[in-house]
Amino acid sequence: MAAVEDSTRKAGQDFIRDIIRADLESGRHSRVVTRFPPEPNGYIHIGHAKSICLNFGVVEEFGGHCALRFDDTNPAKEEQEYIDAIMRDVRWLGFDWGEHLYHASDYFEQLYEWAEHLIKAGDAYVDDQSQVEMRKTRGTLTEPGTNSPFRGRSVEENLDLFRRMRSGEFQNGARVLRAKIDMASGNINLRDPVLYRIVNAPHPRTGSKWHIYPSYDFAHGQSDAIEGVTHSLCTLEFADHRPLYEWLIEKLPVPSRPRQIEFARLNLTHTVLSKRVLTGLVRDGHVSGWDDARMPTLAGLRRRGVPPEAIREFVKAVGVARADNLVDVAMLDHAIRDVLNRTALRRMAVLRPLKLVIENYPEGEVEELQAVNNPEDDSAGSRSVRFGREIYVEHDDFMEEPPKKFFRLVPGREVRLRYAYFVTCRDVVKDEDGEVVELRCTYDPETRGGNTPPDGRKVKATLHWVAATDAVPAEVRIVNRLFKSASPDTLSYASELNPDSLEVLTGCLVEPAAVLLNSDAPMQFERQGYFRRDADSSPGRPVFIRTVGLRDAFAKSLAEAGGGKLG
Ligand code: ATP
Ligand code: MG
Repeated sequence: MAAVEDSTRKAGQDFIRDIIRADLESGRHSRVVTRFPPEPNGYIHIGHAKSICLNFGVVEEFGGHCALRFDDTNPAKEEQEYIDAIMRDVRWLGFDWGEHLYHASDYFEQLYEWAEHLIKAGDAYVDDQSQVEMRKTRGTLTEPGTNSPFRGRSVEENLDLFRRMRSGEFQNGARVLRAKIDMASGNINLRDPVLYRIVNAPHPRTGSKWHIYPSYDFAHGQSDAIEGVTHSLCTLEFADHRPLYEWLIEKLPVPSRPRQIEFARLNLTHTVLSKRVLTGLVRDGHVSGWDDARMPTLAGLRRRGVPPEAIREFVKAVGVARADNLVDVAMLDHAIRDVLNRTALRRMAVLRPLKLVIENYPEGEVEELQAVNNPEDDSAGSRSVRFGREIYVEHDDFMEEPPKKFFRLVPGREVRLRYAYFVTCRDVVKDEDGEVVELRCTYDPETRGGNTPPDGRKVKATLHWVAATDAVPAEVRIVNRLFKSASPDTLSYASELNPDSLEVLTGCLVEPAAVLLNSDAPMQFERQGYFRRDADSSPGRPVFIRTVGLRDAFAKSLAEAGGGKLG
């Protein structure tokens, strides 16, 4: 598995930028015009983010503009909710289309005129065959197709039928308009592709004006040409459509001649980036919605606490290549940690609390200790945390019968409580089932702040903790991979779901500063990972979602492989 596409190149240099640079140098273009063309039939995901960063990125670098164009040619599947979500998510990712917000539906009238232009030139005809018949006569990869019996219709008859299609005279699917190219072409896309379909459905923007809608192929290139797009960047599955794209541009009196260039789509391990599958996950309730924190949508990543900067960094590190490959999702986690390590405030939270009583600490006394907010950022300052006789530590940080390399708390051993004191475990209290429910300890007052005592005694572990006096109960949701296998089968995706993709921990305890700070910014819970307060929180009952754990398997594997730091 290649972690980084085309690793011989530096981030920000790729074959698309080479082409653009050459076009500017040769004077073929003086400004670059690109577009991001989502179909508003779902939320955008991290694969789309690659396309967004590329399209907006090149115009930032070379000068020009990038449009946001909704490819809204299929009224059956498209909704306003998706349009709004897409605009919000592109902005959140950090890009601005300015005044260049377009809809393919704005061009319906022009596209219609161009369809008549093709008919008049003998380059398009109305076909009455059913969808099934058309499929049968299309041929295969090895056999040519056969001509439709309606292919020889006169221009007059074609025009008359097409106008009647427009006016709503016919049922859905009764007829289509097809380009007249070559039913024997080696490229199936050139075997008289469909240009218009009858769809008697209202459109979110054009209402009930239209009864026919253009196909993707007929709308896309012509929309590019209308907008003056210079470089129409799309994913590899459109490479076979390029001859049709060029055929249409050649045949029509379009105002400009855009060039289509294909690049590899982003594929991520343990992740499905198909709108069909993502729609199915939402529809069938496998996730709580498009913004479920396990979803690879930008809405899901945002809810999980992933900063947009991390997505941009990740996309940059992945690069732009010509051949498909699969990127390790650990590389995304690495980019997230990289940003959050610099920016996230540190807080203490105990996910599986175990009570610890300090026997020689005065009853009823509470003191304030200073804790650093972010060791990577001095300007983040410090805060005070309360300490008292009863605190909670992580259950996993104690073992009664430890294996050799367990350096944390065990009976008789001394450890450091972060920012507080050294404590030694003296006794263990168990319930009737023999479960450890409380630790009895003593502390050394000379270690205040967690400092080494005058005798120079060392300890091997530092534990996080929260004070019983003011700890806030919380729910913590641990988000894991949504799919078990690295390359889930998209046809049977429901059976590939990871049953442990969401762990809900109740009875967690967090320090007050984790909730008092009225912020959605992700925090680091020391020794646990990065967490973000979720909108599911209610007063007095905060809910946190884990953005990503602390352990960085990807950085480790890079280091082991002798590779350098990412980015
Ligand atoms: P579907 O899965 O329904 O075919 P799509 O994901 O291709 O849809 P579009 O709305 O057509 O969705 O995509 C908008 C743009 O985003 C297109 O230019 C498409 O090439 C690009 N895009 C989609 N998925 C990826 C991906 N995984 N990596 C890079 N670009 C992508
Ligand atoms: Mg698509």
